[in-house]
Amino acid sequence: MTQTMTRTYEVRTFGCQMNVHDSERLSGLLESAGYVEGEPGESDVVVFNTCAVRENADNKLYGNLGILFEKKQENPDLQIAVGGCLAQKDRDIIIAKAPWVDVVFGTHNISSLPVLLERARHNQEAQVEIVEALETFPSSLPAKRDSTFSAWVSISVGCNNTCTFCIVPTLRGKERDRRPEEILDEIRALVADGVIEITLLGQNVNTYGVEFGDKGAFAKLLRACGDIAGLERVRFTSPHPAAFTDDVIEAMAETHNVMPQLHMPLQSGSDKVLKDMRRSYRSEKYLGIIDRVRAAMPHASLSTDIIVGFPGETEEDFLETVRVVEEARFAVTYTFQYSKRPGTPAADLPDQVPKAVVQERYERLLAVVNRLALEENQAQIGKTVEVLVANEGRKDDRTNRLSGRARDFRLVHFEVPAGSETPRPGDLVTCTITEAAPYHLIADLTQDSQYSLRRTIAGDAWDRAEAASCAVPELDAHGSSPGAKVALNLSLKPKH
Ligand code: SF4
Repeated sequence: MTQTMTRTYEVRTFGCQMNVHDSERLSGLLESAGYVEGEPGESDVVVFNTCAVRENADNKLYGNLGILFEKKQENPDLQIAVGGCLAQKDRDIIIAKAPWVDVVFGTHNISSLPVLLERARHNQEAQVEIVEALETFPSSLPAKRDSTFSAWVSISVGCNNTCTFCIVPTLRGKERDRRPEEILDEIRALVADGVIEITLLGQNVNTYGVEFGDKGAFAKLLRACGDIAGLERVRFTSPHPAAFTDDVIEAMAETHNVMPQLHMPLQSGSDKVLKDMRRSYRSEKYLGIIDRVRAAMPHASLSTDIIVGFPGETEEDFLETVRVVEEARFAVTYTFQYSKRPGTPAADLPDQVPKAVVQERYERLLAVVNRLALEENQAQIGKTVEVLVANEGRKDDRTNRLSGRARDFRLVHFEVPAGSETPRPGDLVTCTITEAAPYHLIADLTQDSQYSLRRTIAGDAWDRAEAASCAVPELDAHGSSPGAKVALNLSLKPKH
């Protein structure tokens, strides 16, 4: 490829929402620098946004890099960049193991990517740039969002805790908080662009304000979101139980557009394991928060994360987790088997639990959480819910169903009445739940069921994006066509 031709890119993302959000920024940065999105496997630049938290993250990365080595031999103009948590952690190891990589950049300097690519091309030599402190808050960088109707908004990065299984504090540093006005300005700009749902993002959203000394800052931020006209849905992830205060519950319950949904990681139900994990709450505190959330919002759905087989976890400890899970009755439980993460304190703890024991406990817990999920969903049958239409699954010709998320984030597949207008992604549909499975609900049309459609500004934004991607000129009131917009790949990202 010559320098005069437009170069194409693709970003491959591993890991959590923070990475998904950073990847939107990476795409935005590259597009601002003149790159255009290419076909997967055919692009001139491949960017890996890596994760150091999940098991086998490095094997997965080096496997992918091995495949690209062959491609690079066929096409020396192909550039490969590796960023994210694993890059921050392993820096020079990546170049030593895969010398055909062109750029390695860290979690604190994603804004450097276009310059590093250019420099690597010019100097014909790999560029490694890792900085230890955040240079630019990711949300201040241009973004190419995955969805027209829903957006992540980063309120903080980093974490001041020291959970012994977690590499995040080492890789993402101390908590840095954005100022409220900056966050609210970003949300207003997103709404002006057709976004009607935002998810406030941070490692510990409810310690937001610690940097500028305002303990009530998170609750105030939720309430301020309630004043933004046109913003229909506000979510957040993830809060820490130790820092969870009643002012947040009150703000959730009293702010019309904050959704009745709480994802709050439990990690273990055993107080001894929580202590070993260096998580400063205990199971009774956790259950107390849940009681107060349910008292304030009886219709709220609750979800959590649990690690099974943390070092030193006994059968009694595990049964404590099962007890808390049974009491909490989560709608969704994300279960993980503990595995050592190099660089974390827990990796060096004695009493690592044998793999077979972890597996057996994991399967027992899975049976419990699946049963609870089904029971909780069955309790939804007969209820009328409002669904934000996604494009997860196009309309199924056999069932005439579309999909979306209810206000409490449950996934709903709903039937569209024959002959009625097809809802667009971003529109809101009201329908009645008729069937339940552990991880989705069905709303088919019956004699007693309700169905109605509300067209939204997000649906209008989707129409505009579709028109632009089909190169259909969109005429304004004066009959002239505004500039073409980029095609958007619309999808609602799952929560972790
Ligand atoms: S709270 Fe614990 S698990 Fe969460 S990011 Fe901080 S150290 Fe990691």
